[in-house]
Order: sequence, then C-alpha cells, then structure tokens
Amino acid sequence: MLLRNEYDVVVAGAGIAGISAAVKAGSLGCNVLLIEHYPFLGGMSSAGMVSPFMKSMSGDKDLVQGIYKDVEKGMRNMGGMIDNGFYSWAFRSVANQLLGDANVEVAYNTDVVGAEVEDGRITYLTIATAYGVSRLHARQFIDTTGDAQLVALGSFPWLKGDEKTGKLQALTLFFRMGGIDVEKTAEYSKQHKEDFLPWMDFKYDFSRIISIAGYTGLIKKAKAEGRFPDDVDYVFFTTLPVSGEGAFNTTNILGIDPSTSGALTEAENIGHQQVAQVVDFLNKDVPGFEKAYLIDTAVQVGVRETRRAVAQYMMTGEDILNAAKFDDVVARGCYGVDIHGQKDEESRMDDLEEGAWYDVPLRSLRVKDAENLMVAGRCIGATREGHAALRIQPTASATGEACGATAALAVKLNTTLDKVPYEKIREQLLNNID
Ligand SMILES: Cc1cc2nc3c(=O)[nH]c(=O)nc-3n(C[C@H](O)[C@H](O)[C@H](O)COP(=O)(O)OP(=O)(O)OC[C@H]3O[C@@H](n4cnc5c(N)ncnc54)[C@H](O)[C@@H]3O)c2cc1C
Repeated sequence: MLLRNEYDVVVAGAGIAGISAAVKAGSLGCNVLLIEHYPFLGGMSSAGMVSPFMKSMSGDKDLVQGIYKDVEKGMRNMGGMIDNGFYSWAFRSVANQLLGDANVEVAYNTDVVGAEVEDGRITYLTIATAYGVSRLHARQFIDTTGDAQLVALGSFPWLKGDEKTGKLQALTLFFRMGGIDVEKTAEYSKQHKEDFLPWMDFKYDFSRIISIAGYTGLIKKAKAEGRFPDDVDYVFFTTLPVSGEGAFNTTNILGIDPSTSGALTEAENIGHQQVAQVVDFLNKDVPGFEKAYLIDTAVQVGVRETRRAVAQYMMTGEDILNAAKFDDVVARGCYGVDIHGQKDEESRMDDLEEGAWYDVPLRSLRVKDAENLMVAGRCIGATREGHAALRIQPTASATGEACGATAALAVKLNTTLDKVPYEKIREQLLNNID
C-alpha cells in the first residue's frame, strides 16, 4: 500500500543508479517513491552479486564522491567492504539506511508496467503487485530499470545492441567461493604467467582485494576432456573482504538477448550448468582450490546490456577514449570501453591514458522528446561503445545522483527540466565534478 498516489519524483528501479537518484531527490526535500521489482535493494550490486566496484580513480584524482562514497563508507564501517570489494548484504543494508535518512518511500515487489504520456510528458504510471494494478502521478520520473523500461513503456526512443550487428554483450552468472588458498593459487599464476590475461602484473598484496584471470592451460586440457564449458575461456575472480573468499565473474552465456523472460530462463539454466562445471574444475585441477567450496550463486544472471535510451546527446566511444569535456558536465568517469564479446565477437577493453577522465553531460541523461523523464545507470543515452564504459557502478551512482538533483530542482523551482539553470544543478553536484 503506497503512502500517497501523487509524488514529486518517482524513480523506477532500485539498483545503484536508482538508489542514488532517490537519495539525492529525497535529501533535497522532495516526496520520492522508489519502485523495485525485487523485495530488496541493489539490482546488479546485490541480485547480480557484482563485486568489486570498478575504478573511479584517475591518477590520484577520485572522480566519484557524493552518494557513492557514502555507500562505500557505510559498507567499510560494517566490515562488508575492503579496498573495492564488497558483499551484497552490506550494500543492501547501507542503501536501506541512506534511503531512510532521505525519507524516500520504497515500494518492493512492484513492477512498473505502463506509462501514460501527454505532449511528451508522463502523466501517470501503472504499477503492478501481486495484489493488483494501480496508477500514480508524479511531476518527474527517472528510469533506472537497467533496461530502459520506462522509456519503452512511454514510447520514447531507445536502442539496443551494437549499431551494426545488433549484438549484445555476454551474460554472466556470478558465484562466490570460500576456502581458497589465495597465496597458493597466486604463486601458481606467477609460475605460469603465459596462462594468464595480459593485464595481470603478478604483484600481489594479500591485504587488499586481488584479481586473478586465466588458467588457460589447465582449461584447455579440461575442455579436451569435456569437463569445462565450451564458451568460457578463462576463470576470473576477485577476492572479498573475508580471507579465502572470491567473487567469480567467469561464466560466459552467449547467444541470448536477455530482454525477454524466456531468454532469461535459458540464461539461468546455462549459467548454473557452467557454475557446476567450473567449480568442479577448480577443485580438481587448480592449485589452491583443493578445499574451496561454492558459497552461493547470484539471485539472477548478470545482464550487461539491453535497451538504452536515445538521449539529447549520445556519448560515444570516442568521447570516452578522448576524455571529452562538456559544458553541462554532471558526472565524470575514467573507465574504458569494456565489451564482453558475444558469440563471434571479440571482447574489448580499451583504456584511457593514465590520468585522463571524461565528463558525462546532462544531455545524455535527458531522454529525447521527453519533458519529465531522465535516465541513469545502465539506461544512459550512449552509443554501444559509450555505454560499455558508462555502465559500471561508480558512474551509475554518479549519473543517478545527477538525475536526482536535476529532477528535485525542477520540482523545487516549479519548472520543467530544460528550464532548470545548469549553475543550480552544478552547485548540487560539486562533489562529483569540481
Ligand atoms: C556480469 C557483470 C559484471 C559486472 N562487473 C562489474 C564490476 O566488476 N564493477 C562494476 O563497477 N560494474 C560491473 N558491472 C556493471 C554494473 O554492475 C551494472 O551496470 C550496474 O550495477 C547497473 O546499475 P543500474 O542501477 O543502472 O541497474 P541495475 O543494477 O540493473 O538495477 C535495475 C533495477 O531495476 C529493477 N527493475 C527493472 N525493471 C523494473 C520494473 N519494470 N519495475 C520495477 N523495477 C524494475 C531491477 O529489479 C533492478 O533492481 C557488471 C555487470 C555485470 C552484469
């Protein structure tokens, strides 16, 4: 049961982008409703079990502060995060606290299923729960569903996949293991450098989160014996705050467009088959994993790419790699173009030069032809290459915060999004852009 049927700001989707948007708009005094399909917060950061946070440090400049840093600080204080690795439980707990402090109303187990639009303005949303369907009104809307669902429901423009091939990035079902002898497996990597990915430097500090990716020699043998998934080329894991635990970003689910329920069901099945084979392989073949055990698999298969909005400005791969700067900057990032290749597509990781960063312009969060709808996180307006850089959690948080600030100012100044003075938005986001 909602507290009201009229809100200043409605945010659809409670991943890191939606949480940041709602906290910002709530802390600026708006009545905010955050609608979430799951009965818990976090999206990919919890249901997807994604850890660690990708980098937002460029040289010694920390580009994302604001709400993102509040999330980090809260998780560290409760022992749920070290370095950049964290647990889903810590994320959910801190997000819950921040939303409460900002007086945000959260509707769990609730799906946004319809949008009524008049002259480019969303007037009503239709939401559905197990107990029925209802309508609600708001002045501003923010789509942080990851899949640009509100954009699509409002018949605003969107794109999906590679501009030429239509391909979407591979899916991954995360899992966690415990009982890993990390030092032993790290030593193995030093002795077999040729079997590990080129970005590894083999300098390990075991007091921090470490990343290991490879074991290709052992995998080749296991594949020849039919004991390893054909579509997985390497094992990639990063350690977690508790010693001997790791988060595995390893399964590689190809040939699936995850925008339909049937396809997600298939992905779920493939993901679990791959986890079983990979864990068995690690236990039997990989030094350091003899006593390791599976702790859990993610609640859902991780989805990197589905629909994204067509925005007033579409950030490109060139913008990312050339460290573009914009007059209407509202967030910044330094992560490069990271495409997990689909079937018959090469994976890519193109980095920026050391010390470089790019701006994210407000226009890439403003949905084309929409008067009161913005997007953040994975729904951002970008080409496929641009999206492949902007989708990471720190940037998703910063773009969410920017949407929250802009929507709240439109409400407070009783005006439309395009009439909110940029200087006022900037004032609210100085942490992230100064
Ligand atoms: C396998 C994988 C590995 C990754 N690795 C990293 C990494 O190492 N580091 C990093 O920083 N980033 C990583 N990322 C990227 C990052 O995790 C995501 O892009 C980011 O978390 C997206 O956040 P979001 O808030 O935009 O969307 P999401 O986290 O997807 O949240 C969207 C939310 O909206 C809800 N929702 C959807 N539709 C509706 C609806 N109609 N009604 C109500 N609610 C709805 C969903 O339930 C969900 O909770 C990875 C992603 C994947 C998939």
